[in-house]
Amino acid sequence: MSKAKKPENRVWNPACECLPRKDLEALQVKRLKKVVKTAWEKVPYYRKKMEAAGVAPQDIRSLADLSKLPFTTKDDLRGCFPYRAFAVPMEEVVRIHASSGTTGQATVVGYTKRDMATWSELMARLQTAAGMTKRDIVQIAFGYGFFTGGLGHHYGVETVGAAVLPVSSGKSERQIQIMKDYGSTVLICTPSYGMYLAELIGQLGVRSDLKLRLGLFGGEAWTDAMRQALQKHLGVFATDNYGLSEVMGPGVSCECVEQHGLHIAEDHFLPELIDPATGAPGADGAAGGELVFTTLTKEAIPVVRYRTRDLCHFLPGDCPCGRTGRRMSKVSARSDDMLIIRGVNVYPQQIEEALLSIEGVAPHYQIVVSREGALDELEVLVEISEGIFFDQMWKQQEMKQKIEHQLETSLAVHAKVRLVEPGSTPRSEGKAVRVIDQRKKG
Ligand SMILES: [Zn+2]
Repeated sequence: MSKAKKPENRVWNPACECLPRKDLEALQVKRLKKVVKTAWEKVPYYRKKMEAAGVAPQDIRSLADLSKLPFTTKDDLRGCFPYRAFAVPMEEVVRIHASSGTTGQATVVGYTKRDMATWSELMARLQTAAGMTKRDIVQIAFGYGFFTGGLGHHYGVETVGAAVLPVSSGKSERQIQIMKDYGSTVLICTPSYGMYLAELIGQLGVRSDLKLRLGLFGGEAWTDAMRQALQKHLGVFATDNYGLSEVMGPGVSCECVEQHGLHIAEDHFLPELIDPATGAPGADGAAGGELVFTTLTKEAIPVVRYRTRDLCHFLPGDCPCGRTGRRMSKVSARSDDMLIIRGVNVYPQQIEEALLSIEGVAPHYQIVVSREGALDELEVLVEISEGIFFDQMWKQQEMKQKIEHQLETSLAVHAKVRLVEPGSTPRSEGKAVRVIDQRKKG
């Protein structure tokens, strides 16, 4: 398959996406005042929280006043289950989504007709930024349903005017058959599923039958090393995009064809970085700060200072694409994913970055954490590229030591490496399960 080609830079809505910063900030202040007033008047939960914090809508006069407002957490939204965070009567709600609720009560979000129009526009911006045009045939392999990934992208593709194949997730051989039969040019899914499909395409020997040129990957945190692997093995130009259902869904920020940071749709979402431990604004430490969003235009469920638990940096300087929306780095870690190994903080993305920097390591791995007596043990199962090493013990040993050294350098904690046969770690059809933490069994 041909090498990933950089698409031409196109902007869906230059009037909004390339707005001078001064005008953008004036717009943000105007919208912020309105959203705080609405939250106060229509959602008792917000009024109670603001009253407890001693702040009222008239105290919000500039962007700097934002820090006076209390945070909203996932637990707060869960506590409003199902509809108590809604600011409009149900007759104005046209769509409901919910987070998976794997760790407790689901969080429920709603959209008015205008929210749906905004979301579709933001998805069209995202997809255009990634290089999609109306000539594309777009295969959506994200799950449809309550998860916002599938239907969010679906409406975006229709807004762009490309042809959407609403395949949904799973049935991997069928996915590839559809790519082949329908001539899909764009694939939308999680990066881990993209990697799995690339492997399967290789095994089926159908690479040359496919027309894929772009991959839009989101739904989980991934590294630049994984981007390189996806571009090489899937033959697509790979971009990242970011969002979360509590804030809207995908479309909150997206990479342009420069592949250098994700432009935040700042006319709709006001971003902040805070210190995850203290909540102090402006933090941008080694692992980055925690991203916090206030929605500026959402009607059905306005969100004030939502703590995403995602860590990232803001990138300085202008982007050659012409967009003025501030860029965030790829999410370097989710604070929920942080592992504490013998007192040291370790993020799965650090392990991925270290592994994929080594020639001969396949982009499939699994992390197992256990406890031996009082000590945490970190073991990484690493797949080695097909056909090498397994016949020669000394080469295996050398590879294992090399990976262990690389991990120890990056993580500042020792990890045991086990080399495993290609195809022996689990493959995911949605969000990958990279970490097995056996300490949680009690
Ligand atoms: Zn750009």
